[in-house]
Amino acid sequence: MNVHEYQAKGLFRDFGIPVPEGHLCRTVEDVRRAYAALGGGTVVVKAQIHAGGRGKAGGVKIARSADEAAGHATALLGKALVTHQTGPEGRVVTKLLVEEGLAIRKEFYAALAVDRRRGGPVMIASAEGGVEIESVPQEKLLKEPVDVNEGLRAFQARAIAYGLGLSGDSAKQGAEVLRNLARLFVGKDCSLAEINPLVLLEDGRVLALDAKVNFDDNALFRHPDAAALRDPEEEDPAEAKAKEWDLSYVSLDGTIGCMVNGAGLAMATMDIIQHAGGKPANFLDVGGGASKERVTAAFKIILADEAVRAILVNIFGGIVKCDLIAEGILEAVKEVHLKVPLVVRLEGTNVERGRQLLKESGLKVVAATDMTDAAKKVVEAAR
Ligand code: GDP
Ligand code: MN
Repeated sequence: MNVHEYQAKGLFRDFGIPVPEGHLCRTVEDVRRAYAALGGGTVVVKAQIHAGGRGKAGGVKIARSADEAAGHATALLGKALVTHQTGPEGRVVTKLLVEEGLAIRKEFYAALAVDRRRGGPVMIASAEGGVEIESVPQEKLLKEPVDVNEGLRAFQARAIAYGLGLSGDSAKQGAEVLRNLARLFVGKDCSLAEINPLVLLEDGRVLALDAKVNFDDNALFRHPDAAALRDPEEEDPAEAKAKEWDLSYVSLDGTIGCMVNGAGLAMATMDIIQHAGGKPANFLDVGGGASKERVTAAFKIILADEAVRAILVNIFGGIVKCDLIAEGILEAVKEVHLKVPLVVRLEGTNVERGRQLLKESGLKVVAATDMTDAAKKVVEAAR
């Protein structure tokens, strides 16, 4: 789970990582008040969206007066901001972080991520900060493995701080920031904790100018404080709904809605739809232990997608039973009218009963004999 910069900076504060003084704003009036509260002078107005690359896209603006700050707020609030991470539709900005402007001497990069090969966290840092880390050549990256019990050790933190070119008290501060970032990463079960840029100020202070934190979804249950940082405004509504029902669902940009059981079968279904010349509108795995209620919820999510022009139900009933799938579909159709063709391929446990239920329902269901047949029929129906 991703959170906003202002939320990540709140966590940074909790873990002793210095960040600029700032205020979260939702209106132009808030921004004027924040400007005054920061004591005037130079401030930075930053769009809060779950995507990076805001600087280059015009989502980070410097202001030297209350009017200028208000002007930036008017230009950003309520508008979609398109960055290289948002996709062409962008993200609507509803929150701004207004921070004190600081005199920067140098920008660095520092992050913790999971090193899958080593099977543990790794600290990655670079003297080239403020740029996308992907563009920094491998040999310019400083790396230190982090022991989850010991954290980033003092000597490791010093090695990185000096490696970044920091010296004296700034090196000490930098090392402290790095150790605290590692504590945060391990303590909150993060999958990513990134500071880009970490900055050395003209006055010698070292602080985090930007903050990005991703939590491991599978560990959120033991961090209710982190789970509470979820921003539904940033989530795809269908994906958020699916999450409520514990369904694995991903929105895609095609026209064929898919309801499948098992991630492997779901992947194969998407492949075979593509092969038949169509495009899936979603990935949806109702899972092995699906209840009738979950199948109903899943089918309603697909029906709610306006881009869907035909639906393919591809179920191999092993643990999940075909009649239960049919009941779930019929329940959903009772509540939401089915306006698009429905192609069904059912196989496995209780398949006869499932087919029977669909047949008796009076719904116009196109029956398919196997996957290839199902893909052909649904692609045809979506035309
Ligand atoms: P991102 O583009 O979404 O990663 O947003 P960042 O928070 O990293 O901001 C982009 C850039 O804006 C930074 O790399 C800085 O160069 C600049 N910036 C942000 N805050 C300040 C500030 O307080 N003072 C100055 N001078 N520059 C800033
Ligand atoms: Mn950044």
